Amino acid sequence: MNQEDNIEVNIVIAKCCKHNQTFGLRLEKINNNWLRTWAFKIKESSAKREGYDKNPINGTLMPMPSYPGCPYCKADNVVLCGCGKVSCYLSESKSVYCYWCNTKHDQIMLADSFSITPSKEF
Ligand SMILES: [Zn+2]
Ligand SMILES: [Zn+2]
Repeated sequence: MNQEDNIEVNIVIAKCCKHNQTFGLRLEKINNNWLRTWAFKIKESSAKREGYDKNPINGTLMPMPSYPGCPYCKADNVVLCGCGKVSCYLSESKSVYCYWCNTKHDQIMLADSFSITPSKEF
C-alpha cells in the first residue's frame, strides 16, 4: 500500500559551518549507499523531539542532483568532524568551523565513507 516501503530514508542533523544553525540532512539508501537528497532548516529542539538524532548511518553521503546545499549558506558539501557530528562545508574552502565542538579545522579530512553514530546528548 505504501509506495515508500522500499525506500530507506534517514535524517542526520548537521550544523552550518558559517552560521550556528542546525539543519536536517535527508539521506536515501541507493544501491546500499547513503546519499544526500535534501537539506532543510530545523530547530535543534524539534530535531531532538522527532528523534532524528538516533539513527546510525554508513555511506559516502555523496549528493544527488536534487541536493540543494546547506539551507543557510548554500555550501555544497558536508564534513564529519572528529567529534562525530556533521557540518556543512564549501568544497573550495580551506577550513571549516565545527559549531558542535567549537573547533576550527584548517585541514579538512574528507572521508570516503561516513560512519555516523549520533550521540544521545545534543
Ligand atoms: Zn552552511
Ligand atoms: Zn566537531
